[in-house]
Amino acid sequence: MPSTTTAAPQAIQLHRPVASRPVRGAWSVQAIQALLDKPLMDLLFEAQTVHRDHWPKRDIELATLLSVKTGGCPENCGYCPQAAEFDTGVKAEKLMAVDEVLRAAQAAKDAGATRFCMGAAWRAPKDRDIEKVSELIGAVKGLGLQTCATLGMLEWHQAQALKDAGLDYYNHNLDTAPEYYTDVVSTRAYQDRLDTLQHVRSAGISVCCGGIVGMGEAPVHRAGLIAQLANLDPYPESVPINSLVRVPGTPLADSDPIDPLDFVRMIAVARITMPRARVRLSAGRQQLGEAVQALCFLAGANSIFYGDKLLVTGNPDVEADVQLLGKLGLLATRHGSASLKTHATALT
Ligand code: SF4
Repeated sequence: MPSTTTAAPQAIQLHRPVASRPVRGAWSVQAIQALLDKPLMDLLFEAQTVHRDHWPKRDIELATLLSVKTGGCPENCGYCPQAAEFDTGVKAEKLMAVDEVLRAAQAAKDAGATRFCMGAAWRAPKDRDIEKVSELIGAVKGLGLQTCATLGMLEWHQAQALKDAGLDYYNHNLDTAPEYYTDVVSTRAYQDRLDTLQHVRSAGISVCCGGIVGMGEAPVHRAGLIAQLANLDPYPESVPINSLVRVPGTPLADSDPIDPLDFVRMIAVARITMPRARVRLSAGRQQLGEAVQALCFLAGANSIFYGDKLLVTGNPDVEADVQLLGKLGLLATRHGSASLKTHATALT
């Protein structure tokens, strides 16, 4: 694999909670818990204030996600219908061909998306997989879209190869707090995830990293997840916050759903602790309804997954999103252009 960087990557260590919030970037679990516990209107006000200090107030990024290699994954993430050991009806498929992916990317661009994320259900890609995905990255970039990939754990040289192929973002979620992690997945360790994130950073690829709520975690675990994310140095450029989609056949299918207002609180706290991150409403948006999504935007969400499908689960369809953004007076981002267009011109 080609390599452009010679410095050895440093390992990210699991964040040790600090007692207070003494310096920029050092967020304690307790400080984040205190934010989560604020009266909702105070929290929303603080989050919206931070948001307006750092972002155009009406700007929403549209990112489209395509599963380029579905199912048959040897990992056992308890929320995931693509794990081979769970009986979810998801069939294992091969990596999609370049022309198929290009058609999907062109359709996403035509619908107004500016970022195109390609997901593959691998524990860790082999070097020959990286070569094939590199072709996809080059083709999608050729359309003028930002590229993102989520392929599982990466070695350093693989991250370098993806960077050389032109990859803009790599998604690798922390999922939850370290203290709850082994209740969700046992086939890889939290430190493995941090190591992959460090390889991505070392290669000069922007980091997309978030987590999932509604998996039966306690409030302190939600605070712990945000602490891990906010204390990454630097914190991720994109932070997807997912609400568990309870897929029959997965171990977490019977989890109690998160209270929608607690989900809003997570968005607000992500905004406050990571002011320059794109905070993305991700999986589970379909279940939130328009009013809760509006609160999430008020809380500082400024990115959505956009399209009819999220890997293998449903997502609000494009027309519904166009209408919602219009109702709320939100504007789709045009990357490469400082001017933001109305949703009517950006999405048609
Ligand atoms: S989340 Fe990713 S790594 Fe985990 S089982 Fe699903 S596809 Fe595999």
